[in-house]
Amino acid sequence: MTGHFIPEGLPTHIQHYIDGSFVDSAGGETFHVLDPVSNTNYATAAAGQQADIDLAVAAASRAFTDGPWPQLKPRERARVLNKIADAIEEREPRLAELETFDTGLPITQARGQARRAAENFRFFADLIVAQFDDAMKVPGAQINYVNRKPVGVAGLITPWNTPFMLESWKLAPALASGCTVVLKPAEFTPLSASLWAGIFQEAGLPRGVFNLVNGLGEDAGDALVKHAGVPLISFTGETTTGQTIFGNAAVNLKGLSMELGGKSPCVVFADADVDAAIDSALFGVFSLNGERCTAGSRILIERPLYAEFCEKYAARARNIVVGDPHDPRTEVGALVHPEHYAKVMSYVEIGKSEGRLLAGGGRPDGLDTGNYVAPTVFADVLPGARIFQEEIFGPVVSITPFEDDAEALALANGVKYGLAAYVWTTDLKRAHTFAQDLEAGMVWLNSHNVRDLRSPFGGVKASGLGHEGGFRSLDFYTNQQAIHITLGDVDTPKFGAAP
Ligand code: NAD
Repeated sequence: MTGHFIPEGLPTHIQHYIDGSFVDSAGGETFHVLDPVSNTNYATAAAGQQADIDLAVAAASRAFTDGPWPQLKPRERARVLNKIADAIEEREPRLAELETFDTGLPITQARGQARRAAENFRFFADLIVAQFDDAMKVPGAQINYVNRKPVGVAGLITPWNTPFMLESWKLAPALASGCTVVLKPAEFTPLSASLWAGIFQEAGLPRGVFNLVNGLGEDAGDALVKHAGVPLISFTGETTTGQTIFGNAAVNLKGLSMELGGKSPCVVFADADVDAAIDSALFGVFSLNGERCTAGSRILIERPLYAEFCEKYAARARNIVVGDPHDPRTEVGALVHPEHYAKVMSYVEIGKSEGRLLAGGGRPDGLDTGNYVAPTVFADVLPGARIFQEEIFGPVVSITPFEDDAEALALANGVKYGLAAYVWTTDLKRAHTFAQDLEAGMVWLNSHNVRDLRSPFGGVKASGLGHEGGFRSLDFYTNQQAIHITLGDVDTPKFGAAP
């Protein structure tokens, strides 16, 4: 049994933030929020409905049409974005402790996520100042140039796995582009999102530019997706939710960015640096409690290395420190919610008939309450197995042997998802050839997931639609209007000019 750390000054009620004020739902609806260690409700949150989304969109629309934000010079917006980054960094310990309390993520990892959130704002501040657009000259005839304009009110819908960081990943480019926003955070984890209001106020973001509506996906989320005044939706979450949103957004032909689920392979060839591969393959699936879209949750091992890898990997997995998310020694904390815990545990049971259990397989010893799952490793998993095909989103990994490159590729690509992939080999030619044939939006060679913010982010197949990252994010939140000017005489066919 771990102690139960409760942050000081924890709110007992979480509100929306609309047009510069904290407010409840117009109809007074609320939902309960629980923490994943005690599984008791520590707060109620305002549950947004159509009426609350209408108010938030109206405020964001006014701020877009009448307010200064979309008209500011890039440098002026960048100044505000940098102040936002400063304010996040100042709050890092508080932010991390609230995030850890609400999500069950280990505190050291929550602190890393807070720093990454600040970096997202700094990065997009730099990008808009450096940005320039194309001008094309047709000698003697025309000059054409791009007039880039923010699209309008951006609807941002986010999941619970790293709430604050993923919100920053959408807020930073949307605000940098000059859009105004309505954010609908995940209902499991609304706590840290309420800090944005204070951060934005302190940084001088004009009133109404940022609006926050809490609530359930099928109410608040659905209303935002269907709202005629919101021309684009950036969504991160499950593939099935993405499909629903895709259909609902069709009526108004909205711009969509979809970052969805994954079942990413980690492929280790026999010539790899085995110790480095083991470190990475452990971190790749057990960091963030395994609640990570890019988790390397299917490990594929070349046959000559298979027995040795399985043995060493399982020994390390059994040694992972599971416990109180607030303890800096903790490597795997508590899963976000009892519903999600039940889902992950059901896959642990399924795995027992689909693979050879090498580590974990249930609750860790000594942790009788809270959503704790022992890091679980299954070997000899066949590609048809459910634990090979389906996203578990917890600390559960399958290991499968392969004989040659062709089989490794078929296994790696043999799922509906295509988000990330990790490849371990010291053969340069094989590394690149294999990486280029992978059906994955992002590939890491001889590395875990370390991402340069300039590079494309997104998945293929069932893992997503569109790529954000760097200038691609700014492209999503802006329209590029083409302006054509004639130079010299206009050469127009003269209709109706015949005598
Ligand atoms: P989810 O799809 O259940 O919920 C995500 C968000 O969508 C929540 O805010 C929810 O309230 C909202 N929502 C639900 N139904 C909706 C509807 N009908 N209309 C509008 N909004 C609706 O996902 P989750 O369980 O919160 O998050 C876990 C999933 O997110 C995993 O599949 C994971 O792989 C994925 N994920 C992907 C990435 C990525 O970048 N590709 C990153 C993190 C998480």
